[in-house]
Amino acid sequence: MSDGEWDAIVVGAGPAGSALACRLCPQRRVLLLDRAPLRDAATAPRIGESLPGAARVVLQRCGAWQRFAAAGHAERGATVSQWDSDEPVWFDHLRDPNGPGWHLDRNRFDRDLRDTAVAAGAVLLDDAGTLRIARDGDRWTVAGGARGGVHRAPLLIDATGRSAAIARQLGIARRVEDELICLHAYLPADPDDDDRCTRIGADDNGWWYSVRVPDGRRVLAFHLDAGDAELRTLRVASNLLAKARRLAVLADVLPDASDAAVHARPAGSAVLDGGAGAHGATGFLAIGDAGLSFDPVASQGLFHALASAESAANAIARDDAIAAHAAFAGEMRAVHAHYRNRLRDTYAGPVRFAHRAFWSRRASY
Ligand SMILES: Cc1cc2nc3c(=O)[nH]c(=O)nc-3n(C[C@H](O)[C@H](O)[C@H](O)COP(=O)(O)OP(=O)(O)OC[C@H]3O[C@@H](n4cnc5c(N)ncnc54)[C@H](O)[C@@H]3O)c2cc1C
Repeated sequence: MSDGEWDAIVVGAGPAGSALACRLCPQRRVLLLDRAPLRDAATAPRIGESLPGAARVVLQRCGAWQRFAAAGHAERGATVSQWDSDEPVWFDHLRDPNGPGWHLDRNRFDRDLRDTAVAAGAVLLDDAGTLRIARDGDRWTVAGGARGGVHRAPLLIDATGRSAAIARQLGIARRVEDELICLHAYLPADPDDDDRCTRIGADDNGWWYSVRVPDGRRVLAFHLDAGDAELRTLRVASNLLAKARRLAVLADVLPDASDAAVHARPAGSAVLDGGAGAHGATGFLAIGDAGLSFDPVASQGLFHALASAESAANAIARDDAIAAHAAFAGEMRAVHAHYRNRLRDTYAGPVRFAHRAFWSRRASY
């Protein structure tokens, strides 16, 4: 990459970084950097596919709605859960003014947001490799990477997701609040599976969800403690499926797919030291998962990626940088506090498991 002067350098071209670039362009010169080779259209499925209906207005405001609406994401059906009791409970979104939301083709969603950012004027450099960040007077410099070059800007945004790679390089610690692991598999859905429900269930040592995504596959995910003795056993698909089938909400929709690959990912809450927006006065902001990562039970990660990008764009637009960044920090603290309260209530639901370590630990959040 050749040298360049920018108004903002956004590192990480996931939903948060792309949404912010959409908002800053074309008024500002934005460099959007990602370490992954994104232009070789990723085909590996990405976990994280439920988007609440409230995201519609945020997508509209960042100019991404048209692409989104044309992409064929599936409208979400009802939620059926075995959470507060073993009895399946149905919940529909009929009374939700924002509508039911979607089950996403996640690769398409991420790609469309990136394309919207580029169409708005952002310059995307992918396959960037490892970057070196430094402060040079009142500017940030971003150097190196697989493509070489030095880039400068007064604003540096960490949108690198859970790795919070830029914050960590700047010495800002990321506090992991919960060592939760998600084991997940993509199962070939039965040809006659037209189920659009989100299926959720509590188990003795964790919780499940399953949805059918637009490419026809079914996601099955189980969340448990990183130190759980069963973690190893459940990395074998036949064991994961056998455990899942004990729940009525899952038993009917799970295909026979004992040769499926089971992936493991950290999935617990985490927040940057001092809060997601605490370091803004120096022209550094962290958005999306890099600032605040949600437990998937909240189903809020993507919405937060879009909404925190919007908050950051609003802060950047204001003249008084210190006040603007303080407002961003305050907003992120409020989001975090609200989320923690909701999370505690959610995990307090399955009282039949309250004596089990997984649940009792989380009831005291
Ligand atoms: C198991 C699981 C299930 C989930 N389910 C849902 C769900 O149903 N609904 C929901 O809303 N959310 C869900 N989420 C959360 C959701 O996926 C994230 O909140 C969302 O992807 C965050 O977007 P982001 O842009 O902040 O980060 P990411 O999507 O992680 O994007 C980060 C980008 O930064 C790039 N990058 C990383 N490191 C570097 C680096 N060093 N240099 C340059 N680039 C870098 C990456 O290549 C990537 O493109 C789930 C998460 C997990 C773990």
